[in-house]
Amino acid sequence: MNRRDFLQMLAAAAAAGMPISARRALAGDADALYDISPFGNVSLLHFTDCHAQLLPLHYREPQFNIGVGAAHGKPPHLVGEALLRYFGIAPGTAQAHAFSFLDFSAAARSYGKAGGFAHLASLVKRLRAGRPGALLLDGGDTWQGSATALWTQAQDMVDVCLALGVDVMTAHWEFTYGAQRVTELIENDLRGRIDFVAQNVRTRDFEDPVFPAYVMREVNGVAVAIIGQAYPYTPIANPGHFMPDWSFGIRERELQKTVDDARDAGAGVVVLLSHNGMDIDLKLASRIRGIDAILGGHTHDAVPAPVPVENADGTTLVTNAGSNGKFLGVLDFDVRGGQVADYRYRLLPVFADLLPADAEMAALIEKKRGPFANKLSQPLVVTDGLLYRRGNFNGSFDELILRALMEVKDAQIAFSPGFRWGPSILPGETLTREDLMNQTAITYPSVSVNELTGEQIKSILEDVCDNVFNPDPYYQQGGDMVRVGGLTYACAPRESIGSRISDMRLNGELIDADRSYRVASWGSTAPDAQGEPVWEVVERWLSGHQHIAPVKTNVPRLVGVADEPGIGLP
Ligand SMILES: [Zn+2]
Repeated sequence: MNRRDFLQMLAAAAAAGMPISARRALAGDADALYDISPFGNVSLLHFTDCHAQLLPLHYREPQFNIGVGAAHGKPPHLVGEALLRYFGIAPGTAQAHAFSFLDFSAAARSYGKAGGFAHLASLVKRLRAGRPGALLLDGGDTWQGSATALWTQAQDMVDVCLALGVDVMTAHWEFTYGAQRVTELIENDLRGRIDFVAQNVRTRDFEDPVFPAYVMREVNGVAVAIIGQAYPYTPIANPGHFMPDWSFGIRERELQKTVDDARDAGAGVVVLLSHNGMDIDLKLASRIRGIDAILGGHTHDAVPAPVPVENADGTTLVTNAGSNGKFLGVLDFDVRGGQVADYRYRLLPVFADLLPADAEMAALIEKKRGPFANKLSQPLVVTDGLLYRRGNFNGSFDELILRALMEVKDAQIAFSPGFRWGPSILPGETLTREDLMNQTAITYPSVSVNELTGEQIKSILEDVCDNVFNPDPYYQQGGDMVRVGGLTYACAPRESIGSRISDMRLNGELIDADRSYRVASWGSTAPDAQGEPVWEVVERWLSGHQHIAPVKTNVPRLVGVADEPGIGLP
């Protein structure tokens, strides 16, 4: 242990259990962090992928975020110390905690929770006061991720976003409430208040636009075009039968035309409010002319500084603003003579201890949660270890779900989807029903058990793995690697489909390609999926436990990635 580590350890130890005022001192001066001088004449505030998290939380950033092909070693595929070094963030600071998984439990206790819409609202108000006309953009994955969002069919999130003053939004998980509910909310609740834009959603029959491609807003005399890009693979990553008449895709040609139309209509600034995911955005930025910035989401990458991407017509800035309400992106443009002359960007962590809760928003959230408060607060179990999900492979919360699936359903192997959402629970905390729902609240939660041959299992793992690690980002069509219980395996991310997965074993024995295995899973996108909701299965399993001991995550043996800055040492 060197001197720096020692001091860090002392600070962490001292901060655990500290009163909030002392934590504030440790995190730094709120004014220094949040009183950023206004710049230019067009400001955009951007949050994305809050996954319906209305209250402050902990969210551990990934320890595994492997970059393949051209993405190797570049943002967003940097984690832990490699990320801090690249962006010049000092270790052992509040910023280091916000952007990395390092020393997570101790740092989380030191710096307190992040996000929460009441705290976000106070930050938005503070920034808007110094930036008249600033637009607030919501990148999507806002309506899904919590029990209350599921139980109100997104009504709580819609009401809260209206109160927050969101100007423009695009979408992904929103579509899992079904085309009818999405349309109903847009036509009734959002109408005249929040513009829902998505250039890449068309009708299946005639390819007609389903939503406006973009909206033009005037900010301090400058015409600002906000183009929407919904998640292009929604019907693949999620059940397509929820929106059977709509087709998605990246739609580069249509996007270029929309950009050109916006410029012809006098736009001095053109931004893409994107839910592509950062790797897709980086490729797209190199191929489309005329976009000043892509404000991105979906991959939950908290990237402290924009990546400038050259293309035929100039440079496009590509950003990604993290997730779970932890961050607010602030992009200030200086627009002169009808074009962007200069910019400033910051991705501000929303530290709940440093920002007072906005009273109106806090009251609204309490009102929305009120009817469900008893149900939500039901204690389930005490966790002795840290529970988290995010990362390329199994997180510790996934392990809990997998164990429940295998034991309750008497299965040899379990699969759980590689979702990127889901807050973290610190060691010693009591897991509530709300915490469990925060990991499982989807509109297609059925658990099923299937007999699969070794060969079928291999082909499922290869398929999902290709969706994560295909070197062409346009073929990255899902979340992270499927979480696997029971089975161990080796994974070579840089190989190609069919050659990435090997050495699959059950209880140490090699899997037999021809033999059948009993496999439990949930979240099937098939229209006929049936079975009890996963949260019921997990809750039943937890009822037999008082404590959950710290779990070792079933991360595959990784092959050929020795020099990978997207893998962090614990
Ligand atoms: Zn998404």
